[in-house]
Amino acid sequence: MLTSRPKGTNDILPGQVNKWHYLERIAGEICREYGYSEIRTPVFEHTELFSRGVGDTTDVVEKEMYTFNDKGKRSISLRPEQTACVVRAYVENKLFALPQPVKVYYAGPMFRYANVQAGRYRQFHQFGVEVLGSKDPAVDAEVITMAMDFYHRLGLRGLELHINSVGCNDCRPLHREKLQSYLASRVEGLCKLCQSRFSRNPMRILDCKEEKCLELSKEAPTTTDCLCENCAAHFNKVKQYLDDIGAQYIVDNRLVRGLDYYTNTAFEIMASDIGAQSSIGGGGRYDGLTEEIGGPAAPGIGFALGIERIIAAMERQGLDFPVEGQLDVYIASLGEKAKQEAFKLVYTLRRAGIAAEIDLMGRSLKAQMKFANRFETSFTLIMGEEEIERDIAVVRDMFSGEQQEVPLTGVVEYLLKQLRK
Ligand code: AMP
Repeated sequence: MLTSRPKGTNDILPGQVNKWHYLERIAGEICREYGYSEIRTPVFEHTELFSRGVGDTTDVVEKEMYTFNDKGKRSISLRPEQTACVVRAYVENKLFALPQPVKVYYAGPMFRYANVQAGRYRQFHQFGVEVLGSKDPAVDAEVITMAMDFYHRLGLRGLELHINSVGCNDCRPLHREKLQSYLASRVEGLCKLCQSRFSRNPMRILDCKEEKCLELSKEAPTTTDCLCENCAAHFNKVKQYLDDIGAQYIVDNRLVRGLDYYTNTAFEIMASDIGAQSSIGGGGRYDGLTEEIGGPAAPGIGFALGIERIIAAMERQGLDFPVEGQLDVYIASLGEKAKQEAFKLVYTLRRAGIAAEIDLMGRSLKAQMKFANRFETSFTLIMGEEEIERDIAVVRDMFSGEQQEVPLTGVVEYLLKQLRK
Protein backbone atom coordinates (compact mmCIF):
# COMPACT_ATOMS: atom_id res chain seq x y z
CA MET A 1 0.00 0.00 0.00
CA LEU A 2 2.69 2.46 1.00
CA THR A 3 4.39 2.17 -2.35
CA SER A 4 1.36 2.13 -4.61
CA ARG A 5 -0.68 5.16 -5.54
CA PRO A 6 -4.50 5.12 -5.39
CA LYS A 7 -6.19 3.57 -8.41
CA GLY A 8 -6.90 6.01 -11.21
CA THR A 9 -4.17 8.49 -10.25
CA ASN A 10 -0.90 9.18 -12.04
CA ASP A 11 2.55 10.38 -11.07
CA ILE A 12 3.80 12.97 -13.51
CA LEU A 13 7.49 12.21 -13.45
CA PRO A 14 10.41 14.55 -14.18
CA GLY A 15 10.82 13.11 -17.70
CA GLN A 16 7.16 13.89 -18.53
CA VAL A 17 6.49 17.14 -16.78
CA ASN A 18 7.92 19.11 -19.71
CA LYS A 19 4.81 18.04 -21.68
CA TRP A 20 2.57 19.53 -19.03
CA HIS A 21 4.57 22.74 -18.88
CA TYR A 22 4.34 23.01 -22.66
CA LEU A 23 0.55 22.64 -22.69
CA GLU A 24 0.24 25.10 -19.81
CA ARG A 25 2.45 27.60 -21.61
CA ILE A 26 0.45 27.39 -24.86
CA ALA A 27 -2.80 27.61 -22.86
CA GLY A 28 -1.49 30.75 -21.10
CA GLU A 29 -0.49 32.32 -24.43
CA ILE A 30 -3.89 31.63 -26.01
CA CYS A 31 -5.70 32.98 -22.97
CA ARG A 32 -3.70 36.19 -23.06
CA GLU A 33 -4.46 36.67 -26.76
CA TYR A 34 -8.16 36.00 -26.26
CA GLY A 35 -8.34 38.20 -23.16
CA TYR A 36 -8.88 35.62 -20.41
CA SER A 37 -7.49 36.00 -16.86
CA GLU A 38 -6.61 33.08 -14.63
CA ILE A 39 -8.86 32.08 -11.74
CA ARG A 40 -7.95 29.62 -8.98
CA THR A 41 -10.72 28.15 -6.86
CA PRO A 42 -10.51 25.53 -4.06
CA VAL A 43 -10.08 21.87 -4.93
CA PHE A 44 -13.01 21.02 -2.62
CA GLU A 45 -16.40 22.70 -2.25
CA HIS A 46 -19.67 22.17 -0.37
CA THR A 47 -21.33 19.13 -1.93
CA GLU A 48 -24.55 21.09 -2.61
CA LEU A 49 -22.70 23.23 -5.14
CA PHE A 50 -22.55 20.21 -7.43
CA SER A 51 -25.77 18.42 -6.43
CA ARG A 52 -27.84 21.61 -6.03
CA GLY A 53 -30.86 20.39 -4.02
CA VAL A 54 -33.08 19.16 -6.83
CA GLY A 55 -30.15 16.98 -7.84
CA ASP A 56 -28.14 16.87 -10.97
CA THR A 57 -29.14 13.58 -12.59
CA THR A 58 -25.88 12.87 -14.34
CA ASP A 59 -23.46 10.07 -13.46
CA VAL A 60 -20.71 12.53 -12.64
CA VAL A 61 -22.71 14.03 -9.81
CA GLU A 62 -24.86 11.05 -8.79
CA LYS A 63 -22.25 8.33 -8.72
CA GLU A 64 -18.76 9.62 -9.28
CA MET A 65 -18.15 12.29 -6.65
CA TYR A 66 -15.55 11.99 -3.94
CA THR A 67 -17.79 13.09 -1.06
CA PHE A 68 -16.97 13.00 2.64
CA ASN A 69 -17.94 14.70 5.88
CA ASP A 70 -15.24 16.93 7.32
CA LYS A 71 -14.56 17.15 11.05
CA GLY A 72 -17.24 19.85 11.33
CA LYS A 73 -19.74 17.34 9.82
CA ARG A 74 -20.13 19.36 6.62
CA SER A 75 -20.54 17.42 3.41
CA ILE A 76 -17.58 18.24 1.21
CA SER A 77 -16.81 17.07 -2.35
CA LEU A 78 -13.62 17.15 -4.35
CA ARG A 79 -14.50 19.10 -7.48
CA PRO A 80 -15.55 16.80 -10.34
CA GLU A 81 -15.43 19.78 -12.72
CA GLN A 82 -14.74 23.47 -12.35
CA THR A 83 -17.63 25.29 -14.01
CA ALA A 84 -19.81 25.22 -10.90
CA CYS A 85 -16.82 26.42 -8.82
CA VAL A 86 -16.15 29.35 -11.13
CA VAL A 87 -19.84 30.28 -11.15
CA ARG A 88 -19.85 30.12 -7.32
CA ALA A 89 -16.79 32.38 -7.21
CA TYR A 90 -18.43 34.79 -9.68
CA VAL A 91 -21.51 35.10 -7.47
CA GLU A 92 -19.75 35.06 -4.09
CA ASN A 93 -17.15 37.66 -5.09
CA LYS A 94 -19.73 39.78 -6.95
CA LEU A 95 -17.81 39.62 -10.19
CA PHE A 96 -21.13 40.47 -11.85
CA ALA A 97 -20.52 44.05 -10.69
CA LEU A 98 -17.44 44.28 -12.95
CA PRO A 99 -17.69 45.25 -16.62
CA GLN A 100 -19.16 42.20 -18.35
CA PRO A 101 -18.43 39.69 -19.68
CA VAL A 102 -15.98 38.24 -17.17
CA LYS A 103 -13.58 35.92 -19.02
CA VAL A 104 -11.53 33.51 -16.94
CA TYR A 105 -9.46 30.36 -17.39
CA TYR A 106 -8.22 27.62 -15.09
CA ALA A 107 -6.03 24.55 -15.19
CA GLY A 108 -5.95 21.94 -12.48
CA PRO A 109 -6.98 18.55 -11.13
CA MET A 110 -10.56 17.22 -11.11
CA PHE A 111 -11.77 14.12 -9.27
CA ARG A 112 -14.29 11.52 -10.38
CA TYR A 113 -14.75 8.05 -8.97
CA ALA A 114 -15.02 6.58 -12.46
CA ASN A 115 -14.32 3.11 -13.83
CA VAL A 116 -10.64 3.33 -14.55
CA GLN A 117 -9.47 2.51 -18.08
CA ALA A 118 -7.02 3.96 -20.57
CA GLY A 119 -7.80 7.68 -20.76
CA ARG A 120 -10.24 7.57 -17.83
CA TYR A 121 -8.78 8.39 -14.44
CA ARG A 122 -10.00 9.33 -10.97
CA GLN A 123 -7.74 12.32 -10.73
CA PHE A 124 -7.33 13.99 -14.10
CA HIS A 125 -6.58 17.51 -15.24
CA GLN A 126 -8.48 20.05 -17.26
CA PHE A 127 -7.68 23.33 -18.90
CA GLY A 128 -10.88 25.31 -19.17
CA VAL A 129 -12.40 28.72 -19.71
CA GLU A 130 -15.66 30.34 -18.63
CA VAL A 131 -17.31 33.52 -19.92
CA LEU A 132 -19.99 34.97 -17.68
CA GLY A 133 -22.39 37.80 -18.34
CA SER A 134 -23.00 37.67 -22.10
CA LYS A 135 -25.57 35.81 -24.16
CA ASP A 136 -24.07 36.97 -27.45
CA PRO A 137 -23.63 34.03 -29.88
CA ALA A 138 -20.27 35.59 -30.78
CA VAL A 139 -19.07 34.42 -27.34
CA ASP A 140 -20.11 30.83 -28.17
CA ALA A 141 -18.17 31.06 -31.43
CA GLU A 142 -15.17 32.64 -29.66
CA VAL A 143 -15.02 29.90 -27.02
CA ILE A 144 -15.29 27.12 -29.62
CA THR A 145 -12.67 28.78 -31.84
CA MET A 146 -10.33 29.19 -28.91
CA ALA A 147 -10.48 25.49 -28.02
CA MET A 148 -9.75 24.54 -31.63
CA ASP A 149 -6.97 27.12 -31.84
CA PHE A 150 -5.35 25.51 -28.78
CA TYR A 151 -5.34 22.04 -30.36
CA HIS A 152 -4.06 23.35 -33.67
CA ARG A 153 -1.26 25.27 -32.01
CA LEU A 154 -0.13 22.03 -30.40
CA GLY A 155 -0.05 20.54 -33.89
CA LEU A 156 -2.92 18.06 -33.40
CA ARG A 157 -4.50 16.82 -36.61
CA GLY A 158 -7.60 14.87 -37.51
CA LEU A 159 -9.88 16.37 -34.87
CA GLU A 160 -13.63 16.51 -35.21
CA LEU A 161 -15.62 19.39 -33.77
CA HIS A 162 -19.22 18.39 -33.06
CA ILE A 163 -21.77 21.06 -32.20
CA ASN A 164 -25.41 21.03 -31.23
CA SER A 165 -28.04 23.12 -29.50
CA VAL A 166 -29.87 21.56 -26.55
CA GLY A 167 -32.37 24.41 -26.27
CA CYS A 168 -33.51 26.38 -23.25
CA ASN A 169 -35.96 25.93 -20.39
CA ASP A 170 -38.79 26.88 -22.77
CA CYS A 171 -38.11 24.39 -25.54
CA ARG A 172 -36.57 21.57 -23.53
CA PRO A 173 -39.86 20.40 -21.91
CA LEU A 174 -41.35 20.05 -25.41
CA HIS A 175 -38.42 17.92 -26.51
CA ARG A 176 -38.58 15.85 -23.35
CA GLU A 177 -42.28 15.19 -23.91
CA LYS A 178 -41.82 14.24 -27.58
CA LEU A 179 -38.82 12.06 -26.77
CA GLN A 180 -40.58 10.25 -23.96
CA SER A 181 -43.62 9.55 -26.09
CA TYR A 182 -41.37 8.25 -28.89
CA LEU A 183 -39.37 6.02 -26.54
CA ALA A 184 -42.28 4.85 -24.36
CA SER A 185 -42.87 1.70 -26.40
CA ARG A 186 -39.12 1.03 -26.72
CA VAL A 187 -37.95 1.38 -23.09
CA GLU A 188 -37.63 -2.38 -22.53
CA GLY A 189 -35.05 -2.65 -25.30
CA LEU A 190 -32.77 0.08 -23.89
CA CYS A 191 -29.71 -0.60 -21.74
CA LYS A 192 -30.23 -0.61 -17.95
CA LEU A 193 -28.80 2.87 -17.55
CA CYS A 194 -31.01 4.35 -20.27
CA GLN A 195 -34.06 2.66 -18.78
CA SER A 196 -33.38 4.61 -15.62
CA ARG A 197 -32.73 7.73 -17.67
CA PHE A 198 -36.12 7.45 -19.34
CA SER A 199 -38.00 9.27 -16.62
CA ARG A 200 -35.09 11.14 -14.98
CA ASN A 201 -33.27 12.57 -17.97
CA PRO A 202 -34.40 11.07 -21.30
CA MET A 203 -32.23 13.46 -23.33
CA ARG A 204 -29.12 11.57 -22.20
CA ILE A 205 -30.41 8.46 -24.00
CA LEU A 206 -29.54 10.21 -27.26
CA ASP A 207 -25.93 10.32 -26.13
CA CYS A 208 -25.66 6.62 -25.17
CA LYS A 209 -23.03 4.70 -27.11
CA GLU A 210 -24.66 1.25 -26.61
CA GLU A 211 -25.58 -0.32 -29.94
CA LYS A 212 -29.18 -1.17 -28.93
CA CYS A 213 -29.85 2.34 -27.61
CA LEU A 214 -28.38 3.91 -30.73
CA GLU A 215 -30.62 1.71 -32.87
CA LEU A 216 -33.79 2.31 -30.86
CA SER A 217 -33.33 6.05 -30.71
CA LYS A 218 -32.13 6.45 -34.30
CA GLU A 219 -35.28 8.20 -35.45
CA ALA A 220 -36.08 9.85 -32.12
CA PRO A 221 -36.88 13.58 -32.07
CA THR A 222 -33.68 15.56 -31.52
CA THR A 223 -33.21 18.74 -29.54
CA THR A 224 -32.82 20.80 -32.70
CA ASP A 225 -36.23 19.56 -33.94
CA CYS A 226 -37.82 21.29 -30.97
CA LEU A 227 -35.89 24.56 -30.63
CA CYS A 228 -37.92 27.70 -29.91
CA GLU A 229 -37.46 30.69 -32.21
CA ASN A 230 -34.83 32.34 -30.01
CA CYS A 231 -32.77 29.19 -29.58
CA ALA A 232 -32.90 28.41 -33.29
CA ALA A 233 -31.78 31.97 -34.13
CA HIS A 234 -28.97 31.73 -31.56
CA PHE A 235 -27.71 28.44 -32.99
CA ASN A 236 -27.84 29.78 -36.56
CA LYS A 237 -25.83 32.81 -35.55
CA VAL A 238 -23.17 30.67 -33.83
CA LYS A 239 -22.83 28.59 -37.00
CA GLN A 240 -22.63 31.71 -39.12
CA TYR A 241 -19.75 33.10 -37.03
CA LEU A 242 -17.94 29.78 -37.31
CA ASP A 243 -18.54 29.72 -41.07
CA ASP A 244 -17.22 33.28 -41.38
CA ILE A 245 -13.81 32.22 -40.12
CA GLY A 246 -13.81 28.96 -42.03
CA ALA A 247 -14.12 26.69 -38.97
CA GLN A 248 -14.91 23.07 -39.80
CA TYR A 249 -17.64 21.47 -37.69
CA ILE A 250 -20.22 18.70 -37.72
CA VAL A 251 -23.74 19.44 -36.51
CA ASP A 252 -24.41 16.45 -34.29
CA ASN A 253 -28.03 16.39 -33.15
CA ARG A 254 -27.34 13.57 -30.75
CA LEU A 255 -24.73 15.47 -28.80
CA VAL A 256 -25.93 16.03 -25.25
CA ARG A 257 -23.35 16.98 -22.68
CA GLY A 258 -22.70 15.05 -19.47
CA LEU A 259 -23.99 17.67 -17.04
CA ASP A 260 -27.58 18.77 -16.64
CA TYR A 261 -27.11 22.51 -16.59
CA TYR A 262 -26.33 23.01 -20.27
CA THR A 263 -28.55 25.20 -22.45
CA ASN A 264 -28.30 26.14 -26.13
CA THR A 265 -24.85 25.51 -27.57
CA ALA A 266 -23.13 22.22 -26.71
CA PHE A 267 -19.91 21.05 -28.34
CA GLU A 268 -17.35 18.30 -28.12
CA ILE A 269 -14.01 17.67 -29.75
CA MET A 270 -12.96 14.14 -30.69
CA ALA A 271 -9.58 12.74 -31.57
CA SER A 272 -10.03 9.59 -33.59
CA ASP A 273 -6.71 8.05 -32.62
CA ILE A 274 -6.80 7.74 -28.84
CA GLY A 275 -9.11 4.73 -28.58
CA ALA A 276 -12.44 4.49 -26.82
CA GLN A 277 -12.06 7.67 -24.77
CA SER A 278 -11.97 9.83 -27.86
CA SER A 279 -13.36 13.03 -26.37
CA ILE A 280 -10.50 15.41 -25.73
CA GLY A 281 -12.66 18.34 -24.74
CA GLY A 282 -16.10 19.78 -24.66
CA GLY A 283 -18.20 22.62 -23.44
CA GLY A 284 -21.40 24.51 -23.70
CA ARG A 285 -23.69 27.26 -22.54
CA TYR A 286 -25.29 27.22 -19.08
CA ASP A 287 -27.56 30.25 -18.88
CA GLY A 288 -29.50 29.28 -15.73
CA LEU A 289 -26.62 28.19 -13.52
CA THR A 290 -25.88 31.40 -11.62
CA GLU A 291 -29.53 31.56 -10.52
CA GLU A 292 -29.57 27.86 -9.66
CA ILE A 293 -26.82 28.41 -7.14
CA GLY A 294 -28.54 31.49 -5.68
CA GLY A 295 -27.00 34.38 -7.62
CA PRO A 296 -28.40 36.97 -10.02
CA ALA A 297 -29.20 35.91 -13.58
CA ALA A 298 -26.09 35.84 -15.73
CA PRO A 299 -25.59 33.75 -18.84
CA GLY A 300 -22.45 31.70 -19.15
CA ILE A 301 -20.49 29.46 -21.49
CA GLY A 302 -17.21 27.57 -21.26
CA PHE A 303 -15.15 24.56 -22.21
CA ALA A 304 -13.01 21.99 -20.40
CA LEU A 305 -10.25 20.11 -22.18
CA GLY A 306 -8.69 16.93 -20.81
CA ILE A 307 -4.94 17.38 -20.49
CA GLU A 308 -4.04 13.66 -20.16
CA ARG A 309 -6.00 12.83 -23.29
CA ILE A 310 -4.47 15.70 -25.26
CA ILE A 311 -0.97 14.52 -24.31
CA ALA A 312 -1.92 10.95 -25.30
CA ALA A 313 -3.19 12.17 -28.68
CA MET A 314 -0.02 14.21 -29.23
CA GLU A 315 2.16 11.23 -28.38
CA ARG A 316 0.25 9.04 -30.80
CA GLN A 317 0.67 11.61 -33.53
CA GLY A 318 4.40 11.76 -32.81
CA LEU A 319 4.33 15.47 -31.99
CA ASP A 320 7.30 17.16 -30.34
CA PHE A 321 7.45 18.60 -26.86
CA PRO A 322 10.23 21.04 -25.99
CA VAL A 323 12.95 19.43 -23.88
CA GLU A 324 13.60 20.98 -20.48
CA GLY A 325 16.32 20.89 -17.88
CA GLN A 326 19.17 21.07 -20.37
CA LEU A 327 22.48 21.46 -18.54
CA ASP A 328 24.84 24.16 -19.82
CA VAL A 329 27.88 23.14 -17.86
CA TYR A 330 29.06 20.10 -15.92
CA ILE A 331 32.08 20.47 -13.66
CA ALA A 332 34.05 17.28 -13.30
CA SER A 333 36.57 17.42 -10.47
CA LEU A 334 39.27 15.15 -9.12
CA GLY A 335 40.48 15.35 -5.53
CA GLU A 336 39.16 17.14 -2.45
CA LYS A 337 40.76 20.51 -3.21
CA ALA A 338 39.36 20.56 -6.74
CA LYS A 339 35.92 19.55 -5.45
CA GLN A 340 36.00 22.54 -3.09
CA GLU A 341 36.86 24.87 -5.99
CA ALA A 342 34.19 23.20 -8.12
CA PHE A 343 31.59 23.82 -5.42
CA LYS A 344 32.44 27.53 -5.33
CA LEU A 345 32.47 27.76 -9.11
CA VAL A 346 29.12 26.00 -9.64
CA TYR A 347 27.55 28.51 -7.23
CA THR A 348 29.01 31.43 -9.20
CA LEU A 349 27.93 29.95 -12.54
CA ARG A 350 24.35 29.43 -11.36
CA ARG A 351 24.21 32.99 -10.05
CA ALA A 352 25.28 34.13 -13.51
CA GLY A 353 22.27 32.30 -14.98
CA ILE A 354 24.12 29.24 -16.24
CA ALA A 355 22.55 25.81 -15.57
CA ALA A 356 25.44 23.97 -13.95
CA GLU A 357 26.04 20.77 -12.03
CA ILE A 358 28.83 19.09 -10.07
CA ASP A 359 29.37 15.52 -8.95
CA LEU A 360 27.36 14.68 -5.84
CA MET A 361 27.98 10.93 -5.83
CA GLY A 362 31.75 10.65 -5.38
CA ARG A 363 32.14 9.28 -8.90
CA SER A 364 35.50 8.73 -10.58
CA LEU A 365 36.55 11.30 -13.18
CA LYS A 366 35.72 8.85 -15.96
CA ALA A 367 32.26 8.21 -14.53
CA GLN A 368 31.71 11.98 -14.17
CA MET A 369 32.53 12.48 -17.86
CA LYS A 370 30.09 9.69 -18.77
CA PHE A 371 27.44 11.33 -16.62
CA ALA A 372 28.01 14.70 -18.33
CA ASN A 373 27.63 13.00 -21.70
CA ARG A 374 24.33 11.45 -20.71
CA PHE A 375 22.99 14.88 -19.77
CA GLU A 376 23.97 16.25 -23.16
CA THR A 377 25.59 19.21 -21.48
CA SER A 378 27.08 21.89 -23.74
CA PHE A 379 30.39 22.25 -21.85
CA THR A 380 32.30 20.19 -19.34
CA LEU A 381 34.90 21.76 -17.06
CA ILE A 382 37.66 19.50 -15.89
CA MET A 383 39.36 20.45 -12.64
CA GLY A 384 42.09 18.27 -11.14
CA GLU A 385 44.85 19.02 -8.61
CA GLU A 386 47.13 20.24 -11.38
CA GLU A 387 44.57 22.63 -12.85
CA ILE A 388 43.91 24.07 -9.38
CA GLU A 389 47.64 24.58 -8.83
CA ARG A 390 47.76 26.54 -12.10
CA ASP A 391 44.48 28.42 -11.43
CA ILE A 392 42.90 27.16 -14.63
CA ALA A 393 40.11 24.85 -15.78
CA VAL A 394 40.01 22.74 -18.91
CA VAL A 395 36.82 23.58 -20.79
CA ARG A 396 35.62 20.96 -23.22
CA ASP A 397 33.05 21.81 -25.86
CA MET A 398 30.91 18.68 -25.84
CA PHE A 399 29.67 19.16 -29.41
CA SER A 400 32.98 19.76 -31.17
CA GLY A 401 35.14 17.90 -28.64
CA GLU A 402 37.61 20.82 -28.57
CA GLN A 403 39.39 21.57 -25.30
CA GLN A 404 40.70 24.91 -24.05
CA GLU A 405 42.55 25.96 -20.94
CA VAL A 406 40.81 28.96 -19.36
CA PRO A 407 42.02 30.92 -16.28
CA LEU A 408 39.63 30.35 -13.36
CA THR A 409 39.13 34.10 -12.93
CA GLY A 410 37.75 34.44 -16.46
CA VAL A 411 35.81 31.21 -16.74
CA VAL A 412 32.35 32.68 -16.09
CA GLU A 413 32.82 35.36 -18.77
CA TYR A 414 34.21 32.77 -21.17
CA LEU A 415 31.26 30.41 -20.71
CA LEU A 416 28.67 33.18 -20.93
CA LYS A 417 30.21 34.25 -24.24
CA GLN A 418 30.34 30.70 -25.59
CA LEU A 419 26.77 29.91 -24.53
CA ARG A 420 25.44 33.06 -26.21
CA LYS A 421 26.94 32.03 -29.56
P1 AMP B 1 -16.40 16.79 -19.12
O1 AMP B 1 -16.15 17.71 -17.97
O2 AMP B 1 -16.94 15.45 -18.70
O3 AMP B 1 -17.14 17.43 -20.23
O4 AMP B 1 -14.96 16.46 -19.70
C1 AMP B 1 -14.20 17.35 -20.44
C2 AMP B 1 -12.94 16.64 -20.87
O5 AMP B 1 -12.21 16.20 -19.72
C3 AMP B 1 -13.20 15.37 -21.65
O6 AMP B 1 -13.32 15.66 -23.01
C4 AMP B 1 -11.97 14.55 -21.38
O7 AMP B 1 -10.93 14.93 -22.26
C5 AMP B 1 -11.60 14.96 -19.98
N1 AMP B 1 -12.06 13.96 -19.00
C6 AMP B 1 -13.30 13.85 -18.46
N2 AMP B 1 -13.35 12.83 -17.57
C7 AMP B 1 -12.12 12.30 -17.53
C8 AMP B 1 -11.51 11.22 -16.80
N3 AMP B 1 -12.20 10.51 -15.90
N4 AMP B 1 -10.20 10.95 -17.03
C9 AMP B 1 -9.48 11.66 -17.92
N5 AMP B 1 -9.99 12.69 -18.63
C10 AMP B 1 -11.29 13.01 -18.45
